[in-house]
Amino acid sequence: MSKVVRSYCGLCHPRCGILLHYGGDKVVKVTGDPDHPINRGNICERGRLMVDHLYHPDRINYPLKRVGKKGEGKWERISWDQALDEVAEKLSALKDEYGAETLAFTHGTKRTYHWDCRRFFNIFGSPNTCGVNTICMCPSYATEFATYGGMIMGSEVPASKCVVMWGSNPSQSNPNLLYPMILHARKNGAKLIVIDPRKTNEAKKADLWLQIRPGTDLALMLGWIRTIIKEELYDKEFVENYTTGFEELAEEVEQYTPEKVSEITGIPPQLIEESVRMYAANSPAVIPFGLGLDKQGKNSTQCARGRAIIRAITGNLEIPGGEVFSLAGDIGKIRDWTYLEANEAMPEAQKKKQLGADQYPFFGFPGWEKNSAANAKLPEGYMSPPESWHSNLAHAREVMNAIITEKPYPVKAAITLANNPMVALPDTQKVFEALKALELYVVVEYYMTPSAAMADYVFPAASTVETSELWLTSGFAVACPQGVEPLYERRNSYDFYRGLAVRLGQEKYWPWETIEDVYDHCLEPIGLTFKQLTEQYGVFGQKEYQRYKKYGFGTPSGKVELKSSIFEELGADPIPKYKEP
Ligand code: SF4
Repeated sequence: MSKVVRSYCGLCHPRCGILLHYGGDKVVKVTGDPDHPINRGNICERGRLMVDHLYHPDRINYPLKRVGKKGEGKWERISWDQALDEVAEKLSALKDEYGAETLAFTHGTKRTYHWDCRRFFNIFGSPNTCGVNTICMCPSYATEFATYGGMIMGSEVPASKCVVMWGSNPSQSNPNLLYPMILHARKNGAKLIVIDPRKTNEAKKADLWLQIRPGTDLALMLGWIRTIIKEELYDKEFVENYTTGFEELAEEVEQYTPEKVSEITGIPPQLIEESVRMYAANSPAVIPFGLGLDKQGKNSTQCARGRAIIRAITGNLEIPGGEVFSLAGDIGKIRDWTYLEANEAMPEAQKKKQLGADQYPFFGFPGWEKNSAANAKLPEGYMSPPESWHSNLAHAREVMNAIITEKPYPVKAAITLANNPMVALPDTQKVFEALKALELYVVVEYYMTPSAAMADYVFPAASTVETSELWLTSGFAVACPQGVEPLYERRNSYDFYRGLAVRLGQEKYWPWETIEDVYDHCLEPIGLTFKQLTEQYGVFGQKEYQRYKKYGFGTPSGKVELKSSIFEELGADPIPKYKEP
């Protein structure tokens, strides 16, 4: 019998609403859900492939235990109970012998829940979770918290008068959410500036295209800031009352004349000036975040600072059509992912053992704690607190080194969730050596990746349509409903972690039996259950702009820190300085 069931695609961040078309017992087609508030019926090629992903013959469908040598490909099918019992017993023994820090973790980019992993690790007592974060949006996330106390994911693009696509190509990478918003803004007459080495689809349609030399974006940002200051294009009232470090910033950027920036970036000086004037003259203006900046190497963290500073001094923070990141209305009442992470459970002594935090303190516990302390001074529900999984990680290279060398201490076990560290982390050979050296390697996966092939135990992961999710942003919460009963013995990551946790004595911290129970708990403060939220798709909070006038920003000074006190305390440049790539 044919039927259509609502579900969601979690193959990338927007969590588009989809319709699963059944032919008999099987899903035969996926289409976009026209009533879904996020994608309004649009769906990309990846989303369309959900049916293939669901029924792919190479999917892992049962728990497997290694019976041959590591990587030999010989497996025995066992039950979930047996697999969890054995893994828990081995983890317990390793913890007794080497301490909780002997367990490490690697993850990918949020195709699973992530907070459940942090919850498990915090309660287990290991600070050594790491993943692809350092080459994704996470440096921007932590940096924007240090600058103004939150990450801007909710630029109000449709109402903006100028959109700057800086290292971003949303017609290809974000076709269902950001790209339609840009088209909408353009229809309303918004200017479009594209900064990209490639003549992208967006660049072809832009008012101005700045073909920048890769890796030199920070120099252009500093040049923009110089012109904004020199020509008094900044928001004087905002800068005077709500920022720190303006004088030092002005001094630092003085050297970045259009001619010098042109030499560095390859962009003609006139175009540099024309573009920044266009941006500054057309407020509200937005620079939506783009991974082209976040991933560009040694300037990436300071690029995130540069972008944040430009947004702030031009007065574009927290205004309609600008860069908005405070929590909207009821959204601030929902128990969020930081709440679920149970960061308070991590013992102080264990935090200090986080691998790599001595070299990269900003992106580990030291930086995260400073950002959290600044956020904690704000009224509850105004700004989201920093999530640990986004901004508090062990350094992946140092984790691999510790596995291989046993220095500064032995790391004997690891869990990998929906991630292929041999490909996703730097230095494949080193990761391979590390995976070989582990005494216990546990992988939760969809397919038998090269990394999974090195495991002692492999657990079958449920696809997003086989489970449910609550998706939170600063402006809205969307229910992502399960559309298919999990096939074979696939389960979601919550079931995996809870199953392991109760066997390791963490039961009181995991009172919710199912993922839907968790989300009922999260939604309780706004008087909804997950089922009710699903029926109405989601909740959109009522936006209140410029609350910083009452409450300030979530930084140590309570102002936008053009000169970052957190960076300074942790030994990084408090004002961005350009380095040749
Ligand atoms: S943009 Fe495509 S891959 Fe991403 S959630 Fe939507 S349909 Fe899925």
